[in-house]
Amino acid sequence: MAEGCRALEALVFPWVCPICEQPGVDSPFCESCRNDLVNASGLVCERCAMPLGPWSNQVGGCFECRGRPLGFDAAIALGPYEGTIRDLCLRLKRESNAWLAPWLAKVLVDARAEVRQVPADSWVVPIPLHWRRQWQRGYNQADALARGISKRLSLRLAHPLRRVRSTPHLASAGRSERAKVMREVFEVRRRQALGGRTVLLVDDILTTGATCGAAARALKRAGAARVVVLVIGRAEGIPLK
Ligand SMILES: [Zn+2]
Ligand SMILES: [Zn+2]
Repeated sequence: MAEGCRALEALVFPWVCPICEQPGVDSPFCESCRNDLVNASGLVCERCAMPLGPWSNQVGGCFECRGRPLGFDAAIALGPYEGTIRDLCLRLKRESNAWLAPWLAKVLVDARAEVRQVPADSWVVPIPLHWRRQWQRGYNQADALARGISKRLSLRLAHPLRRVRSTPHLASAGRSERAKVMREVFEVRRRQALGGRTVLLVDDILTTGATCGAAARALKRAGAARVVVLVIGRAEGIPLK
């Protein structure tokens, strides 16, 4: 009998919320946790997605990014990389939790209206792993997220970026050396088809912006008109020039 009840319950509540473990009906996130995620972002910089105070001057970016060439035109995050969002990002790194990706993509698209305002011929492009890491892991959470976002927005999922170098540690490098190294991290294929398009560049976390910036610059050199970075978590980190 108890088993019958559990079977019936599983039919009515097919999901267990991965955050609070309460049963969910038509989405794994229960209503309350979903609302928390949708409202996770307060006032943020439109250019670099850093959280802002209520009276911040937003002209030309925020205090963090104003005057810094970022490589991309805008950045959109579900929320700051802390608490539940940090926990979900960490889980998503494991392939066994790849099922979370389409649901996080849905919450991100629901939460941030500006994601839905891109041209219909825009491409959704994940930040790729270096081939060696991709081969070792067999899974890239950015790709899983991008797939979910492209489905939600009915936009084309494309893979024009190739990571030809692992992202090096650049803390001690000078500015021009750093720019030169980052310039060689990504290559772009299918340049002709990319020309003039808006690209939603997808990753799980945005920290210094160096990787997304390098990818965006490569896409722009190949003809992309506009690159908007889309992530789940925005971590603190001073953008690299
Ligand atoms: Zn919940
Ligand atoms: Zn900013």
